[in-house]
Order: sequence, then C-alpha cells, then structure tokens
Amino acid sequence: MKNHCNIPFFIPHSGCNNNCVFCSQVKITGKNHLEPNLDQETQSLIQTIENSLSTLSEETETQLAFFGGSFTGIERNRMISLLETGYDYVKKGKIKGIRISTRPDYINQEILDILKTYGVTDIELGIQSMNDRVLKECARGHISAISYKSSELIIKNGFNFVGQMMIGLPLSTIVDELETADAIIKMGATAARIYPTVVFSDTVLYNMTKDGLYKPLTNDQAIERCALCCDRFIKAGIKVLKIGLHSSESLTEAEFGANHPALGELVKSKIYFHRISEELDKLDCVGKTVQIFVKSGEQSKLTGHGGKILNELKEKYNLLKIETGITDTEENQPIIKIKE
Ligand code: SF4
Repeated sequence: MKNHCNIPFFIPHSGCNNNCVFCSQVKITGKNHLEPNLDQETQSLIQTIENSLSTLSEETETQLAFFGGSFTGIERNRMISLLETGYDYVKKGKIKGIRISTRPDYINQEILDILKTYGVTDIELGIQSMNDRVLKECARGHISAISYKSSELIIKNGFNFVGQMMIGLPLSTIVDELETADAIIKMGATAARIYPTVVFSDTVLYNMTKDGLYKPLTNDQAIERCALCCDRFIKAGIKVLKIGLHSSESLTEAEFGANHPALGELVKSKIYFHRISEELDKLDCVGKTVQIFVKSGEQSKLTGHGGKILNELKEKYNLLKIETGITDTEENQPIIKIKE
C-alpha cells in the first residue's frame, strides 16, 4: 500500500467574513491576517510544494492541502491562482490531487465546478456541530441544514467529502457530539477530523471563559468525548484523519481547553480501554491474569504514558496481572484471553 502525505498550505482566516467565538486562525496556523500579494503567495506555494516533494519518495501518494481558512470564500482571482499553481503539479503527475477546507455555506455548484476544473479531489467541511443551538451560541453564521445540503452537493459532484467536527463547544453536550458524528456518517463522509475546543486569548470564547459563561473541557473530558465520537467513525468504516489541532508552536499559547500535545494518542488508548472493558465485562476475570493482543504497531497505545490504560484496567477489574502481545486483528479491536 502506498504512503499518503499532504502538503499543507495555510490560508489564515482568509476568505472568511465570520467571527466564530472560538476562532483564532492567527494562532492556529501561526500566521498573521495580512494577505500577501499574489506573486509572493504563489512563490511561497511553489516553494512549499518543491520543498516537500524533495523529501518524499515517488512512491508516496501526495496531495496539496489548502487549510486554515475558508478556501472557497477567498477572493476569486486569488483562489484560482492558488489552484492553478497546484494543478500544474497534478498535471505533471507530481501530486495526486488537491484538498481544500471550507465552511458549509461557502459551497455551491459554481464553486464546485471551479474546484473540479483545477484537480480538487477532497473537500473538507467545517461542520463543527449539527446542533443549531450550539451553532448559534458559537456565532457560526449558518444552520445545520446547510451542512446536509453542501455535503450532498459535494458527493453528487464526485468529490470525497470529509467532515470536521468540534468537541466541547459552548452549550454542546456529548449527546450533541455523538449526533454530529452520526450525521457526518449519514452524509456519506469518507473521513473525519475531530477537534476539541481550545481557548486562545484573542477570541470571544476567551472573554466568555473569563466571565464564567463557558467552561472549557479538561484534557480527560475531551479525551473521553473524542474517543466516543472517534469510535463511532471507526465502527462505520470512516477514517479519522486527525484528532486535535494541527501541531504548531503557537498552540501552546492556548490558555484554556484540551490541548494536550499527545491528545490523539490518548484518545486511541481510551478507545482501547472501552473496547477491552466491553470484553472484560463478559468474562470472569477478577483476580486472574488477562492477556491482551493487539495489531502490530498498536501496542504502545496500551503501554504508553506509563501504562495508564493497563493500570486503570487492572484496578477496574481487580486483575492479578495483564500481559500484552501482538496478533493479526483489526485496528482498535483487541483480542482478550484469560490465562488459566
Ligand atoms: S469559519 Fe473558520 S475561519 Fe471563519 S471565523 Fe469561523 S473558525 Fe474562523
């Protein structure tokens, strides 16, 4: 199987006239709001692509990914210029395609026709929540029905649709988040991204937090809620591309919220914890040695972070000992045996 790699090119806040309460695209992408002139930006894009390609083998399936703002909302000439530059590499066979991320209300047939012309294959929609109360509280500027309509149009036009959702938004509960995950599955997503809310100092959410109007999630709460949503996607056969924001120095500046640097790994460990618990609930395991077998390469999810998950399981089920091993199994699906 070929390795897949994205060449990310960030378009901070550009093209977006909204101001979602949690938005701090400057901090998230590590860039400022000043829009570079078109020539400089094109050069920067070419440089980014060339630098990345020089480090990748020809066997790697590479995509150019415009992230960070609302790509289809940026000034039309600029959008086309960026797409043209990327598409040159598609035509030369150096990259496989282009992916973009945008808001659900910045999609229509005309925009999709342009994206199709320039080799875009994957469209990521920042759905964030399918609860209208939550969307309104976040000043998101659109209702959930728009996400259904846009995803349908995206799929009808032959693009891969990726749903992005957030955990721990103002007024959002785990029930809302599971319903959002279910809705993304129902819409026909090929993949998903899950972002726990973090609070940067230059956002409305920061003031809401300071005023006691919003309570950020702790890392543990976010890990639990992300794990439940992530498991829904995995069970539906939908790949979870990322849990947590893109790694960037400035993420450490988030003053509140779940921003553990290894959040994705911790979520995957938590999924194991739940799946192993489901199996142990059915077994007479108290005081016994339990053997847990996972797919090759997955063992660190059990043993990482000081064996936190194994210790929690040992305590929860009053086990004598836990042994781990490797076997052929599906991802995240452990095989459990009681050692007699
Ligand atoms: S849509 Fe995205 S870029 Fe625009 S304000 Fe909201 S979070 Fe920020």
